[in-house]
Amino acid sequence: MTGLIEPTRRLICQGLAIGAGLGLMPARAHAPADAHRLKWQPDQTTNKAFITRALALAKQGAERGDGPLVGAVIVLNGRIIGRAANRVDLKGDPTAHAEVEAIRVACHRLGSRALSRAVLYVGGPPPCPMCETASYWASMAEIYHGNSPDEVIKLGAPRYGGC
Ligand SMILES: [Zn+2]
Repeated sequence: MTGLIEPTRRLICQGLAIGAGLGLMPARAHAPADAHRLKWQPDQTTNKAFITRALALAKQGAERGDGPLVGAVIVLNGRIIGRAANRVDLKGDPTAHAEVEAIRVACHRLGSRALSRAVLYVGGPPPCPMCETASYWASMAEIYHGNSPDEVIKLGAPRYGGC
């Protein structure tokens, strides 16, 4: 079984490396320089409030048995435009992480795949590679995660962390 998994991992990593090498990752190069600048500046109090909301969603979802203890809130100009808990168990979908679910809600609400100037608050650990990459492709400006409002990622090319 292990022998079947290893080559796949190598192929995925190889693909990403090739993509980065060809300059495919910085898709925002064509956007205006200030396209991702926030119109509002979240402060400690604001960050704490949105992280608290994300943590509450995480707790509610986990208590229902929807999935692991992670929640996400997406904020644009100080208003929540998307929120979700992890739903991998509820949906039987390994991609239904809270961040991706919240991105889908926000994009549907805006009628756009671009969430420029939006901020993602994650009630849980730093985003996994899939969620960080989804945030990048959604053109989000920043991600705050965990219990500390001080933990912030300014989105450049995905760094492949882990949630
Ligand atoms: Zn994730």
